[in-house]
Amino acid sequence: MLSYNKTPIQQVHDSVLTNSEIRLFVKREDLNHPFVSGNKWWKLKNNLIDAQKQRSRALLTFGGAYSNHVYATAAAACELGFDSIGIIRGEEVLPLNSTLLFARDHGMKLHFISRETYRQKSKPQFINELHDQFGDFYLIPEGGSNELAVAGVEEFAKSLDFNFDYLCCPVGTGGTLAGLIKGQCGERKVFGFSSLKNGEYLSDEVRRLGGSYLNWEINIDYHFGGYAKSTAALLAFIEGFERKHHIPLEYIYTGKMIFGVFDLVKKGFFKKGSTLLAIHTGGIRHSPN
Ligand SMILES: *Cc1c(COP(=O)(O)O)cnc(C)c1O
Repeated sequence: MLSYNKTPIQQVHDSVLTNSEIRLFVKREDLNHPFVSGNKWWKLKNNLIDAQKQRSRALLTFGGAYSNHVYATAAAACELGFDSIGIIRGEEVLPLNSTLLFARDHGMKLHFISRETYRQKSKPQFINELHDQFGDFYLIPEGGSNELAVAGVEEFAKSLDFNFDYLCCPVGTGGTLAGLIKGQCGERKVFGFSSLKNGEYLSDEVRRLGGSYLNWEINIDYHFGGYAKSTAALLAFIEGFERKHHIPLEYIYTGKMIFGVFDLVKKGFFKKGSTLLAIHTGGIRHSPN
């Protein structure tokens, strides 16, 4: 099993919140593991157990050059003694960025393919070709959002021993949100913040992965231009938040979510007297040294 550190729930004290009679807490799941952090730990957990059960020698997965999922998979494989293969979208750019350097340093074999070929990533024929090339491996899809991943996040949600009205999380593929929805079993409200532009399609994906509950929604207004895009206002917010509350955020996921929470609080979106619990899904890069 991957090592796991217990994580605290931290209250955020801010006049924006008190003025609207809202209490905000952050579940510091970013602190659960130095490299397989946040939601990635829970999404990988059951896949790793399954891979061990199947006696797979290697893990293979897909991602872009800045993928937290690729980074986490490399670290998890290294810790548990799997070989790992990362199929990376696009041409190799040298020198490697810090994500890919980390992955390679943790034993991941990096295989770069064109964006065009990458689109075949879930086609059986393409997977067979990868087997011809790399031999036996346990396949984890792009972003890691399969049923085992959703079940892991569900387990996390069920372990939350805390009274809240809204549960908030950032959304990339929607696997994490789906797991939180399942773990809540229709109770209270689960609220996702899309980090992608045109996130309308995500609801279908979450419905597919998360079942038929209705107590959730995805806000698509805080993408700041799209995936991995940011604005000066977002970066300034993140910096100010970290200075004031000592909670590090990044601009791809958690920064957008917390910005969205504060903005919606200011607009009076949440009912007065509500308690919000935001899941810090990680994504902060710790230097390996
Ligand atoms: C990967 C990631 C997400 C997105 O999770 P999905 O399950 O793909 O929606 C959110 N936050 C952080 C920090 C991530 O690394």
